[in-house]
Amino acid sequence: MIITQEVFTALERHLFEKHPYEACGILLGHMDQHHVIRLLQYIPIPNTAPNPLHHFELDPGIWVKHVLGTANMIGIFHSHPNSSPYPSPEDLESLQQYGTLLKAYLIGSLTYDKKQMELKGYTIQKNGEQLTLNESSLSMT
Ligand SMILES: [Zn+2]
Repeated sequence: MIITQEVFTALERHLFEKHPYEACGILLGHMDQHHVIRLLQYIPIPNTAPNPLHHFELDPGIWVKHVLGTANMIGIFHSHPNSSPYPSPEDLESLQQYGTLLKAYLIGSLTYDKKQMELKGYTIQKNGEQLTLNESSLSMT
């Protein structure tokens, strides 16, 4: 998975802007003929979860608009400002509702010194009836 420096900076900025609440948004990009996912643009979306300290919910109205009208939507991002960048049981549960629409799943946390973002990338894959997240290498251009 490849992310541009510009997108990384946009994610990091959103994480710090919403801290201590979770930030979320969608990623635009494409998958090339070698199945490499390229993340080219980030669109922040308001987090409408009742408890945004520990959960995220992409604003449903805006989300539906993108599902219907944004052809190159390829993934989502959310932040874990208070925990590690690994999917929570709730993350995996809600993934089942919309995961087939996406290929990439990013989670951003804070580095140990809390000055930068630690970002992890996952690909969304179908495993029987369940959608799962598999950690993927993430390189920056
Ligand atoms: Zn989460």
